Amino acid sequence: MRIGIDLDDTIFCTTEQYKKYQTDYLLKQNISVDELWSNREYRVDFIKSNIETIFSDVRLKEDCLKIINKLKNDGNEIYIITARNNDYCDHMYAFTKRSIDRFNIPYTKLVLTEKFKLKSCIENNINLMIDDSKYIYDELNDKIKTILFDDKRKYLDQKDRVSSWNEIYDLLGGKV
Ligand SMILES: [Mg+2]
Repeated sequence: MRIGIDLDDTIFCTTEQYKKYQTDYLLKQNISVDELWSNREYRVDFIKSNIETIFSDVRLKEDCLKIINKLKNDGNEIYIITARNNDYCDHMYAFTKRSIDRFNIPYTKLVLTEKFKLKSCIENNINLMIDDSKYIYDELNDKIKTILFDDKRKYLDQKDRVSSWNEIYDLLGGKV
């Protein structure tokens, strides 16, 4: 099976990193957290000027590497599919690849998409997508089986939602 996996807040603890490094920026700009994340200009500027630092010590989600290795060893192909673009970095593909490769995650291909992922999933013959975005989960719904990675426990009533990487493996029957 070919499994697509989102990167930010599914493999990487990205939001945790933003929170860790946003304080100085908020003080310097004299803005609130809400303003930072609702205003595209601030958001792009913050991430762009801090991207190296933000991802220099990013953590993986708990058990993520262990389960991705299991999925790979079970004979699946791993595609990392992330909605990143060059807004935040001049060489986003190379930058993203470098930040992933530090962890020895066994993946076949890294795919950078726009906001929507259905097209990339179809083009890459993805059979199963794992993503923390409810937006992507809804977009792919009924077209490609999607597991909603919901470790913040916001969508408890959704089908195929999990709160941990171990649960992903269990949901897939321990072997896929
Ligand atoms: Mg994400």
